[in-house]
Amino acid sequence: MANLRCDGLHKLTSDLASSHDVVVVEHLNVSGMLRNRRLARHIADAGWGELRRQLGYKTAWAGSRLVQADAFYPSSKTCSACGAVKAKLPLSARVFHCEACGLRIDRDMNAACNLAALVKDVVAGSGPETVNARGGDARPGLAGLTPAKREPRASRMLG
Ligand SMILES: [Zn+2]
Repeated sequence: MANLRCDGLHKLTSDLASSHDVVVVEHLNVSGMLRNRRLARHIADAGWGELRRQLGYKTAWAGSRLVQADAFYPSSKTCSACGAVKAKLPLSARVFHCEACGLRIDRDMNAACNLAALVKDVVAGSGPETVNARGGDARPGLAGLTPAKREPRASRMLG
């Protein structure tokens, strides 16, 4: 099982790094989350820390870029349509519903749209300030950019 998991993770990260110009990951406090007993096994099984580590060196090999959203960027709580930010969003809520604009979307899809929007700002050459201004978050939205080795073009992940 360990070998299967390791093989699957390598194939996934190799594919992501070689087939996309920009890959965005979210900085999650994995060690903190591992202290939550209900989350710990799922997180350890998924190998999130190792996934990020492999993406780091494989995007460098492939000449693509790894963008890491700041740990405090509210990707799940922000409406990807209108930008309204919820004060709370329990983990049990699998569908994001925006009271401001009425958007109803899968929770993870909503977060992915918000992260993809961060990449557009990076590719357009604007800095984290722009992300902060739009997201209303005082903290930096982006961290851990790897140097670009080729001209960025729109990532296929952005659809
Ligand atoms: Zn909305």
